[in-house]
Amino acid sequence: MIEERYREILRRISSACERAGRRTEEVTLVAVSKTHPPESVNELARLGHRNFGENKMQEGRAKIPLCNGNLRWHMIGHLQTNKARDVVRLFSMVQAVDSLRLAQELEKHADQQSRHLDVLLEVNVSGEGSKFGIQPGQLIPAALEINRLPHLELQGLMTMAPFSDNPEDARPHFRRLAQLKRDLEKELGAPLPHLSMGMSGDFEVGIEEGATLIRVGTAIFGERPKPQMPTE
Ligand SMILES: *Cc1c(COP(=O)(O)O)cnc(C)c1O
Repeated sequence: MIEERYREILRRISSACERAGRRTEEVTLVAVSKTHPPESVNELARLGHRNFGENKMQEGRAKIPLCNGNLRWHMIGHLQTNKARDVVRLFSMVQAVDSLRLAQELEKHADQQSRHLDVLLEVNVSGEGSKFGIQPGQLIPAALEINRLPHLELQGLMTMAPFSDNPEDARPHFRRLAQLKRDLEKELGAPLPHLSMGMSGDFEVGIEEGATLIRVGTAIFGERPKPQMPTE
């Protein structure tokens, strides 16, 4: 079941790349395994898949040691600064850096652990109050500071589009993120390799707008259990 869905996603990535005139190797699929067991991760790992995403430190801490050892883990969820030590220990990339303070805390632990950490800045492109992320107007000053931290490798930007059933609704937000990356590259005087945008419902739009990382959970692993409603 997971294998079939995975292969179908790979096919859809290829055709989206073809439509967009891009090479398939330009897009990395991050399989979002949150709420799913280590067995499901290892099933994909056996098929040769390497990049996985988790959004909660507590879950990652329990799951990652039970998974195949040569995987690349991406932290894709909001992180409290007191979780920085473990994230540096377990993850290769933090995609959701949303404050200078978090970046400084990651830098401190990366230094202590003699590690380098790839980071993306999460941008709140839509301006929705419920979303984490740096406001677009604050992006450049924050990025210039974070870019100076010696153990962090600033590699680009990440965003989440507002929830919608229509993938086209995500397009203007993805386009805006791509523009912000170009603006930032000008300020930095150097190219940034990554744009992380697109999930199960809208990854093809993400690819058409230049995504290099897409984060797909449900379309590979199936529905996640719904959070329990409080009962009287
Ligand atoms: C859960 C999650 C995803 C994957 O969502 P699906 O709709 O299941 O593909 C992607 N990005 C982030 C930040 C997430 O939290």
